[in-house]
Amino acid sequence: MTDHHITDQDWADLVARRARPGVIGVTSTGLFCGFGCVARTPLRRNVRLFDSRETAVAAGLRACRRCGGQPKTDQPVA
Ligand SMILES: [Zn+2]
Repeated sequence: MTDHHITDQDWADLVARRARPGVIGVTSTGLFCGFGCVARTPLRRNVRLFDSRETAVAAGLRACRRCGGQPKTDQPVA
């Protein structure tokens, strides 16, 4: 197993949809989201953390349609 389990803090940020750097990969769907995305909360065991969109893409994941895999910020993403 080469799973990178997320920390309790990571999980808390995800569940709270808190905007922060990094993206959330979901192995069950093959998608990744930025923190703050309103998509349905995945099962924790299916979640992997990545530093950036690029590393998530390199791992074979695709960007979520809702957030485009972009971390949510105070500035709306065009
Ligand atoms: Zn998303």
